[in-house]
Amino acid sequence: MPQTLLMPKKAMRAGNRPVEPFIEERIEGAGETFMVSFLDGYLYYAPRANVSMILDESGAATVRKYFRHDLLLPHEQSLIDSLVGQGALRIPEEQNEMRSNVETSWSPTSVTFSNTQKCTLRCKYCYAEGGRLEDLDIPLPVAKAAIDLIMKHAVVRQANPSVSFLGEGEATASWKVFQSIIEYFQAQCGLHGFSPTVSLSTNGVFSPARLDYIAENCTHLTFSLDGVRDVHNENRVLPNGGGSFDRIVTTMKGLDERGKSYNIRSTVTVAGCYALTEFVQFVGENVQCKSIHLEPVFDATGVTNLAEEIERIDAHAFVKNFREARRVAAEFGIELYYSGAASKHRETFCGASNASTFLVTSRGIVTSCNEVLQPSDPRAPLFQYGQWNQETRAFVVDRNAIDRLGRLNVHEMPKCQGCIAKYNCAGDCYAKSASVSVSGEPADAGYTERCQITRELLKDNLLIGLISQSAEGGMLGQSCRSC
Ligand code: SF4
Ligand code: SF4
Repeated sequence: MPQTLLMPKKAMRAGNRPVEPFIEERIEGAGETFMVSFLDGYLYYAPRANVSMILDESGAATVRKYFRHDLLLPHEQSLIDSLVGQGALRIPEEQNEMRSNVETSWSPTSVTFSNTQKCTLRCKYCYAEGGRLEDLDIPLPVAKAAIDLIMKHAVVRQANPSVSFLGEGEATASWKVFQSIIEYFQAQCGLHGFSPTVSLSTNGVFSPARLDYIAENCTHLTFSLDGVRDVHNENRVLPNGGGSFDRIVTTMKGLDERGKSYNIRSTVTVAGCYALTEFVQFVGENVQCKSIHLEPVFDATGVTNLAEEIERIDAHAFVKNFREARRVAAEFGIELYYSGAASKHRETFCGASNASTFLVTSRGIVTSCNEVLQPSDPRAPLFQYGQWNQETRAFVVDRNAIDRLGRLNVHEMPKCQGCIAKYNCAGDCYAKSASVSVSGEPADAGYTERCQITRELLKDNLLIGLISQSAEGGMLGQSCRSC
């Protein structure tokens, strides 16, 4: 198992960047409560107390004075009395003590399989280099052992186990392995009285003959579709170079006919960014999907063998187009989602923290990150924490590596401490941060264009929360719908 954290190629090429001053948006004396200018006033946000509100210039100044314990004028005191009366200025006592719930023992009840390196597509930006590796399939005994392991924990913890497919290739491209894993999992769930949860992230390019099985056996389905036909076909190509858009839409329509719901996960390229509204309109008019997850494309050339650099999208353009697309989405009852601005409060961005994610690759590597799958990845020493042992026929996990993963949380990210998005973004994707950090450590990464996007879209989400509260008769934003 790798022990030394290597620098990603791109970060090494990047050299030392000028040190940026850290954002500071916390209100003096108010702990983890934030205030930023917004519209023609200020947005007050206390994530821990679940409160957000819009204040005008004088209201914002008064609130700052209150938390600094300055002497208040009578009209200022009356505003404060009113806000205190509504519970708007409360700061939970334990606010400054917030820390991640670091799991003391590693006992996953879910497993993600990167069951094959085979792929029916050759997407140009693919971080996993699907179809361009060795076409390995996960050995069935390895997959069954992973299921046995989560089942054991599920019984002890009385938690429903789950299996997901995602990774180095297209899970359904190795059909027999895919089916065998599902069938073994279902059988084990049957034995222990659990109902099986199976999630599949798919490129949607598989034989129509397989649709019935997938609809019947996969509880959650996510299709990768990057935009309108031309945008999607620019990158998500078949091995012969042809576009895959029409095949995927046909697959989705097949699910619509079967009454099966699914989500779309869309990687937004520069071209896709400017056609987001058109894309949402297309989805609304042609298929039944009600949830589209949009993420800006990430240039993986620094951490893979991909040669062609991907043009980075402009943060302002992404935000502007996301906002316009959101209006169209609302007309069709479609939810648009961007991970950094999730409404749910959290201190860790994803399952990479604390080794919560138990992902087993086709080589039997155990990793906490959905994107760090190869032993050659410079980020492997941080995210990969175990391996299948053929002799003992068991997984061996490295406790020190799990401890290191325990430090992947927002409290360990210096740049995030004073950011309004601290408890929603939680430091953003640690793998992407590691790949742009000069040291290779996520904590050392500077601000990225994703920070700009996150901070803007979070404000939008807080405002939407306030508007819906106000429509329900509340005066304050008891912010945040769950995602
Ligand atoms: S670190 Fe980033 S790429 Fe890895 S699992 Fe978390 S969100 Fe996904
Ligand atoms: S990573 Fe997220 S929390 Fe940290 S500074 Fe950027 S937007 Fe803020």
